[in-house]
Amino acid sequence: SAAFSQAFVDMPRPDRPLKVAVIGAGLAGLSCAKYLSDAGHEPVVLEARDVLGGKVAAWQDKDGDWIETGLHIFFGAYPNVNQMFTELGIRDRLQWKSHSMIFAMPGQQTADGFQRFSRFEFPDLLPAPLNGLVAILLNNEMLTFPEKIQFGIGLIPAILFGQKYVEECDSLTVTEWMKKQGVPDRVNDEVFIAMAKALNFIDPDNLSMTVVLTALNRFLQETHGSKMAFLDGPPPTRLCQPMADHMLARGGELRMNQRISKIMLNDDKTVKGLKMQDGSMVEADAYVSTMPVDILKLMLPDEWKPMPYFDKLNGLEGVPVINIHMWFDRKLTTVDHLLFSRSPLLSVYADMSLTCKGYRDDDKSMLELVFAPAKDWIGRPDEEIIQATMEELYRLFPNEIMRDGSKAKLLKSAVVKTPLSVYEATAGRELYRPVQTSPLANFFLAGCFTKQKYLASMEGATFSGKLAARALADAAMAGTIPLKETAAVAA
Ligand code: FAD
Repeated sequence: SAAFSQAFVDMPRPDRPLKVAVIGAGLAGLSCAKYLSDAGHEPVVLEARDVLGGKVAAWQDKDGDWIETGLHIFFGAYPNVNQMFTELGIRDRLQWKSHSMIFAMPGQQTADGFQRFSRFEFPDLLPAPLNGLVAILLNNEMLTFPEKIQFGIGLIPAILFGQKYVEECDSLTVTEWMKKQGVPDRVNDEVFIAMAKALNFIDPDNLSMTVVLTALNRFLQETHGSKMAFLDGPPPTRLCQPMADHMLARGGELRMNQRISKIMLNDDKTVKGLKMQDGSMVEADAYVSTMPVDILKLMLPDEWKPMPYFDKLNGLEGVPVINIHMWFDRKLTTVDHLLFSRSPLLSVYADMSLTCKGYRDDDKSMLELVFAPAKDWIGRPDEEIIQATMEELYRLFPNEIMRDGSKAKLLKSAVVKTPLSVYEATAGRELYRPVQTSPLANFFLAGCFTKQKYLASMEGATFSGKLAARALADAAMAGTIPLKETAAVAA
C-alpha cells in the first residue's frame, strides 16, 4: 500500500489538472480526494451534511459529550488505513490494544461475582499463523479440543486453495458452510454468532462465508492482522479533518452542506453536471460518487438504469444497525479492549472512558455498544431499545448494574440508528459489487460496497477511494476523460 500511495506522487504532473467532483466526505470520498490531489488533480468534495465522516461521523451533545455513528475498531490487517495514518503523520492517534480477542461469558461469574471473559491471546513472539493457532489452542473455555480440530479440518480447503476458494464460498452462508464441512454446531454458536454480528451486523444464518474466511485469512496470514486499535477521539476531527486538510493544502476544495439532488447527463450519457438541492449546478471534468449504495440507486439517471453495471446495484442493500452510548455514574469493571458481548441483542461493546484517550473519564464509565441484528428494532422508540439493552447489561455486569437501581446508575444515553448502513453481506452478494470504473468515461464509483478485497469496512472504504483515484488518474493520463472547455467547477 505504501508503493501504491507513492505512485500517485510519482505520476507525471498532468498538463491540465482535472477538476473532479467527489460526492461524499466519508472515508472513501476523503481518501479519493487525497490521492487525486497527490496526483496533481483538483478534487472538489461535496458533502450533504455539516459533518465529515459519513458512517464514522460524530457530533457533540449539549453537554459536550461525543456521539458516534458507530463503535469503530481498526485492525492491523488494514494496510491502506494504516498507511493513511502514516502519510498524514498521525500514527500516534491509533491506540493499539493487547493482541487478544475477548469474549464475554454471559451468565458466568468470577468467584467475586464479576462478569467472566474468555480470551484468545496471540503471543507476541510468534509469527502468523503460529500466534493465531496458539491463541486458539490455548483457549479451552469456549471450544473443546475435538471441536477445534474439526473446525481446523474444515478450514483445510481454504488453506490449500486460497483466495479462489474464499470467493467460491460466497454462495454459502456461514451456517451452511459449517454444516458442509462437518463443523459442530457449537462452534457456530460459541464463536461465529458473535463474529458474524461484529463483521456485518447479521447472524451466521445469513452472512456469506466469504466474509468470515476473508477476515480469518488476514488474521492467520499477518502477524499483527487481528491486533485492534481505537482512535484516540472522534473520527471527524482526529482522522477525517487531517485527510481533508491534506487535499486542501494541494489545491482541493471542500464544500459542506452540499447535497446532490440529480445527476445531469450529456447526450452520450456521460455526466454533464450535478444538480444541487439548492438548485445550483456543479460541473467538473470528472465525477466520483462515494454515496452509499442505497442513495446511489435512488440517484441513478433513467438512462443508466438498464446498463448491467448499474442494474446489478439492485442486488445490494444496506443493513440496519444501532449504536448506543450509555453513561454511568461510576466506573464499571471493564477491560481496556473491544469486547464481544455474545448476547442475543448486542454485538460488540467497549468502555470508551477507558479505551479512548479523548473520552477518558476516571470516575465514570461510558459504554458504547453495537446493537445487532437490528432489523426488528430499528423502528422502535429509543426508550425501548435502551430498556432492552439494560436487560442485557444486567447479565453482562451481574455485580455492578442491578435491576433495582441500587448500584451503578444510568446517567444518560444516546441511540444512533442507521437504517441502511454498510451493504448486507448475505450469501451471493460479491457478484453485485461494482468495480470503481463505470461504463461512462467521466464517472467513477467508490465506497465500501464497491469491489475490493477488504469487505464493507473503513479499510474497504479507504482502499476503494484510492482505487477510484488511480483509475481516474490513469484515465486522465490516457486522455479518455473528455475535458470541460472551462476548467472551472461552476457553483
Ligand atoms: P459513508 O461513510 O456512508 O460516506 C458517504 C458520504 O456520502 C456521507 O458522508 C454522506 O453524507 C454523503 N452523501 C450521501 N448522499 C449524498 C448526496 N446526495 N450528496 C452529497 N453527499 C452525500 N468498519 C470498520 O472497519 N471497523 C468497525 O469497527 C466498524 N464498525 C462500524 C459500526 C457501525 C455502527 C457502522 C454503521 C459502521 C461500521 N463500520 C466499521 C463500517 C464503516 O464505518 C464503513 O464501511 C465506512 O465508514 C464507509 O465509508 P464510505 O465512505 O464508503 O461511506
